[in-house]
Amino acid sequence: MVGKMPECDCSSDLILKNKQAFHGRLLSWYRNHRRELPWRQSPSLYKTVVSEFMLQQTQVETVISYFNRWLCVLPDFQTLARAKESQVLKQWEGLGYYSRARFLHRLARQIVQLKEIPKDAQSWQRFPGVGPYLSAAITSICFGTPVAVVDGNVIRVLSRLLAIVTTFKDGASAARALRPLAQILIDVHRAGDYNQAMMELGATVCLRQKPLCGFCPIRGYCQAYKSGIPQAYPRFSKRKTARVSIQRLWLIHKGALLLQRQDKTARRLAEIYELPLLEKLPFQVADERLLAVRKRSISNQRIEEEIYAVHLTQENILRIPSSANLHWVSLNRLKQITLSGPHRRWIAELLAYGAPHRWLSTH
Ligand code: SF4
Repeated sequence: MVGKMPECDCSSDLILKNKQAFHGRLLSWYRNHRRELPWRQSPSLYKTVVSEFMLQQTQVETVISYFNRWLCVLPDFQTLARAKESQVLKQWEGLGYYSRARFLHRLARQIVQLKEIPKDAQSWQRFPGVGPYLSAAITSICFGTPVAVVDGNVIRVLSRLLAIVTTFKDGASAARALRPLAQILIDVHRAGDYNQAMMELGATVCLRQKPLCGFCPIRGYCQAYKSGIPQAYPRFSKRKTARVSIQRLWLIHKGALLLQRQDKTARRLAEIYELPLLEKLPFQVADERLLAVRKRSISNQRIEEEIYAVHLTQENILRIPSSANLHWVSLNRLKQITLSGPHRRWIAELLAYGAPHRWLSTH
């Protein structure tokens, strides 16, 4: 019945035999309980595309303010296509995963050249940065194309509905394994609402740690609910956490802060400014003062960043190249450049604490 199905404690028969009733319960709940989100007001292809790009890897609560600001400055595909990349990145500053902004920019430039916008998911996957999830989300929501989305929320709901006991390596492999099942369960007549309802249910009711089963419109179909331990699904193999330690440099000279601009080819932060790595200095530092320690997590990495003010001679200051991605940026210009989100916060904090503006050795 279902191609290469992951292992489960049951079959999807209960839902398949009652598909209409299942859809009815889910969609009626969605109509009454969906969140009022800015991209759902007067929806358009542009709003859907922008919001879906932003929502990848980022929480809804964070995206809302970015989306509203974006729409004020870049209200449609034409304006976005005409914008400079620096302007686009500036609007994206703090959202992270900047390749999404670049892809969105390139996508807009391609869209405005088209006589007709494709409505099928396959064609959308030819646009920059658009994979199976984005193509399904955009075409189902905007054109009613009957392609199921499988994101983290849908993985959780499906795994629980069928009490799937397969242990997945990660989210991507779970999505691949569950896509055929998701496609079988979709309401082909209301694909956009169905997809949004599944994601909304996962985001607001079928929560990772404490699912609110008492409020769930489809609990009558849910094997994990019947098992009494819904939070035991989905199952993922444990990922090793890597601890990373990074030393950064805090150096202000003649009213300018030394920053490192990431290489154009960098995967995550291409051409985005950060505080420089201490190792970027072309000489040994004898005297340094720890100003702050900041911790953050990216994926499975736990990163500890130590920020040092260093004691430099005038001669050493002059030896710092303005090439090699190191740049002196006037404190007055900080607002205009695109800094990575955490670094902008740290810089603001350090300036507010009165971090040294000048610490030059006299010898
Ligand atoms: S009944 Fe509970 S576990 Fe099952 S889908 Fe609903 S919220 Fe999730």
